Amino acid sequence: MEKANKGRFVVFEGIDGSGKTTQVELLCKRLASTGFPIYTTCEPTDGPVGRLIRRMLSGTLPADQRTIASLFAADRTEHLMDPETGIRQMVDTGTIVVCDRYYFSSYAYHSQYMDMEWVIQANRLNADILKPDITLFIDVDPQICLKRLQTTRKHLEIYEKIDIMKQVRANYLAAFKRLAHQEHVVVIDGNNSVDNIAKAVWEQVCLVI
Ligand code: ADP
Repeated sequence: MEKANKGRFVVFEGIDGSGKTTQVELLCKRLASTGFPIYTTCEPTDGPVGRLIRRMLSGTLPADQRTIASLFAADRTEHLMDPETGIRQMVDTGTIVVCDRYYFSSYAYHSQYMDMEWVIQANRLNADILKPDITLFIDVDPQICLKRLQTTRKHLEIYEKIDIMKQVRANYLAAFKRLAHQEHVVVIDGNNSVDNIAKAVWEQVCLVI
């Protein structure tokens, strides 16, 4: 299929509380007004593997970090390849898919516990199946993110502690540097108003649709 008839795959990344959910919603509203078919999704998914992952992240089902990392890669493959709602077939048939987290989240979160190269290799098939047309990293000071989370959430997940959030942010930046030759990543200053961030996001997305 010609590139012009294909959809696009837009991914948001950032530490928890950075404003991804807020910006996904605003971008989708704006895209919908242009008449493109839009599909919004997130990782981990609500499928069987994703549900298992959520129990592990909340701490109710203890698991080794390598198990969690492997499950994330498997959940992602299902997310891409499901015959009904798979991201790949949607993009192939003209939909703009906007996804909250994709493989850079794995690189940033799991490389706290294992070599980042291992995580990249575990996701190689996923990267071969579909690379994002653009990855938007909403970059926010971890202290600000933590404050936001403390006021909005009852229970924080295992990754939502300040030292971990700082480390994850650093890992994201290291992953972007490492894969700069093969990925289209844009860092958006997220220490800004919701509207200004949405404007910066829209300017970038317009360049790829
Ligand atoms: P994420 O999906 O990355 O965890 P959310 O979009 O859920 O982040 O935002 C976390 C909290 O911060 C929410 O209460 C949201 O309303 C608030 N928020 C999002 N963006 C901003 C911003 N630019 N400035 C101030 N607060 C924000």
